[in-house]
Amino acid sequence: MAVEDSVPNGDILVRGGYLLTMDQAGDIPDGDVHISGGEIHAVGHGLDAPGAEVIDAAGMIVAPGLVDTHWHLWNTLLRGLSDGVGGGDGPDRSGYFVTCVGLGRHFLPGDTYAGTRLACAEAIDAGITTVHDWAHNIRGRQWAEAGLRALAESGLRARFSYGYETGHPNDQAMALDDLAHFHATWPAYSAGGRIHLGMAWRGTGGSNPAMRVDPKIYRAEIEAARGLGLPVSVHACGPRAAGGQIATYAADGLLGPDLQVVHLNNASAAEVALAAEHGTPVSVSPFTELQIGYGQPVTGRLLAAGLPVGLSVDTTMLSGNADMFGIMKVTQACENGNACHEFALSARDVLRLATIEGARTLGLDSVTGSLAPGKRADLIAVSVDAWNLGVLTDPARLLVTAAHPGNVHTVIADGRVLKRGGALTGYEAAEVTRSARSALAGVLARA
Ligand SMILES: [Zn+2]
Repeated sequence: MAVEDSVPNGDILVRGGYLLTMDQAGDIPDGDVHISGGEIHAVGHGLDAPGAEVIDAAGMIVAPGLVDTHWHLWNTLLRGLSDGVGGGDGPDRSGYFVTCVGLGRHFLPGDTYAGTRLACAEAIDAGITTVHDWAHNIRGRQWAEAGLRALAESGLRARFSYGYETGHPNDQAMALDDLAHFHATWPAYSAGGRIHLGMAWRGTGGSNPAMRVDPKIYRAEIEAARGLGLPVSVHACGPRAAGGQIATYAADGLLGPDLQVVHLNNASAAEVALAAEHGTPVSVSPFTELQIGYGQPVTGRLLAAGLPVGLSVDTTMLSGNADMFGIMKVTQACENGNACHEFALSARDVLRLATIEGARTLGLDSVTGSLAPGKRADLIAVSVDAWNLGVLTDPARLLVTAAHPGNVHTVIADGRVLKRGGALTGYEAAEVTRSARSALAGVLARA
């Protein structure tokens, strides 16, 4: 069953949980959330909602749905392959970029669908209700449609950032006509407004000189997106000596609140200041930044400079999974470790990055990211009835340091129950994983 077809507008009363509203109301112990028409109608004590479906959250932690701010959902099909198809420690291991580009060339639209669908199911299981699908293997309109179909069926809130394809020649612009086509026909893909369109941009092409994109091309690409009123996202990573991308974009007059930059691990202090000056939001993906060797995440530096910061999965080829609890935990641990200070980044602050601040970086802070009347109903209820929890002490710290996706009891996105009693409502695990394995077998056979 596709979630899209389930009842979206029934009233729901999530009753008696410890509410981390991440909003002005603060924490509300033994609080209720009344959902009506897909929207949060009321938040408080002892709410009356005649006829509403009641979800008993007594003893649970209720929080806003977690917000991912950059994730290449399609390559979830290639989980575990970042060392190369041969894997292991052998001399022929190829690494993330070579493997991703090489296998990505052999994706058919159905493979993009299977990978994106597996990622969506994992996201819901992990309590993520918003994803930013950074689609950088669009080999034609059908590939974009396949990814969008998986997103629409999932029930998740999403930005779909329309990109290029792996191995796209760096002397050619991305398919800007296709981007304009999707923009013009967007209501057919937006799932009633749950999914919004953006552009995944190569920018200068990154730190590898062989991948450099001519300024005429990258400027034309971002101007096309801005001409359509679309938000843009770009990776800015790699060693500092070969980077300097933020300085380049600043000199080109391209920085702004509509240009999200990803990673920034090796940006100079001057570049971080330039980004802050232009209100440029940043996505930090601690596990992938560590795994690929970009160095330590620089969350504290970015926050100190006043930059809007969100957290991200990036790619499960490197992160392994989409456990946003783990992402929060490593974010805090790295920051405290870097600062040599136990209180450099609080659990509460890192939970803000994974909820309301992440939403802000995507321009969705008036829609999601906190439990407040008038927002769309995106929330999770986490049960402490598990070996790794067991007590309900400091709820924010429990979510950041102790919880895992298996503790997520309920997930509601846009007012639809996507996980209930620990089970996904829209997916059969056996079927989703079987079709992923079958799609991957096809990719490997063609490669
Ligand atoms: Zn990325």
